Amino acid sequence: MALLNNIQDIRDQFPALGQKVNGKDLVYFDNGATAQKPLCVTGRLNEMNSGINGNIHRAVHDLSAKCTMLYEGARETVRAFINAESTDEVIFTSGTTASVNLVANSFTASFISKGDAVIICEADHHSNIVPWQMACERAGAELRILPVDDNGCWRMDELDKILDRKVKIVSVAHISNVLGIVNPVEELVKKAHAAGAVVLLDGAQGIVHSSVDVQKLNCDFYAFSGHKIYGPTGTGILYGKRSILERMGPWMGGGDMVETVTLQKTTYAPLPLRFEAGTPNFIGAAALGDALQFVSSLDKEFVHNHEERLTDLLMNGLRNIEGLKIYGDAPEKIPLASFTIDGVHHADLAMLLDKMGVAVRSGMMCCEPLMSRFGVTGMVRVSLTVYNTEEEIDILLKSLSRAVNMLRQ
Ligand code: PLP
Repeated sequence: MALLNNIQDIRDQFPALGQKVNGKDLVYFDNGATAQKPLCVTGRLNEMNSGINGNIHRAVHDLSAKCTMLYEGARETVRAFINAESTDEVIFTSGTTASVNLVANSFTASFISKGDAVIICEADHHSNIVPWQMACERAGAELRILPVDDNGCWRMDELDKILDRKVKIVSVAHISNVLGIVNPVEELVKKAHAAGAVVLLDGAQGIVHSSVDVQKLNCDFYAFSGHKIYGPTGTGILYGKRSILERMGPWMGGGDMVETVTLQKTTYAPLPLRFEAGTPNFIGAAALGDALQFVSSLDKEFVHNHEERLTDLLMNGLRNIEGLKIYGDAPEKIPLASFTIDGVHHADLAMLLDKMGVAVRSGMMCCEPLMSRFGVTGMVRVSLTVYNTEEEIDILLKSLSRAVNMLRQ
């Protein structure tokens, strides 16, 4: 794939961007929720769904072999993309939520007992809160919360107070989906390891907006979804260090995760299949490989400069709107802004923007505890990605002013 280094060539890869919504050209700023798909992804899905379709690993026929090759090829693409040591450490799941649940079940069963503790953060997505509440309840473990300050930054001083030898795992977001803050994960990993705990990073946003190198991060688990990084829905990854995965039992039982089965007892397949019970979304997984190859084909310098320019335009424009408050002030942020506007309800604003063809997210963004922390019932979120343009920021800002004026009348 040739290096993509201009906006038109990039947009040409995304047919969804050319549609009209409510009679207006679509301006899509809900990339934090899900990204549009490039032609290489939709092409792979079509190609496999309409022909190259045979269940993987099990059969000797040609279609099965082709699909197995595409599936395992995608696993290698993921491995290289995140710099995992081995494909044995790359488990296909249905998304970040499934990946976190896998760890919350399997890791807890093997390593967490009554009296132990788990740390999560109050800024986390529900996907990283609820599975750990459930796991702690089952195991009789204590759930400890890392608080954030008024800017939404981790209180590292508080981490020191709650991180002791009882803590078996710290499970937190690499990058916040509401605040866009890139959290100091390397510092956290060092502290957690020094205290004898392992670390799971929820990389749903991190995989899209940073160069993830799991060996450099030295995290023990890294979870992400395919659909946020231009891949298909229903795909995701759990990276786990081999030394830990090998000591975890499976979470789900079924076909393909076994070595031998008798009616009395089953022995399990080696990594990574031990954690992939049943027919996986092998077509989606193959297309996730294409999505990651698409990302690798983007000129990094172009992406960096382009997103920086868009973010400056967005932030400067938002700051000019009276009564608008942006949440999350930190040195390192991704191109995303969540805000409230005095006297304007977030849902009304998002609905009016939609009528103008502009798609943004509104509400709690699956982060109810964080909304409570800031004393709001919801926010509006504008999340950008590489295919957005300066003209779209201009349309958003003009539409926002119009909508605010209408709602304030
Ligand atoms: N974690 C974060 C930080 C997210 O942004 C999201 C989705 O918005 C999730 C977890 C859940 O991802 P999924 O619904 O794809 O499993």
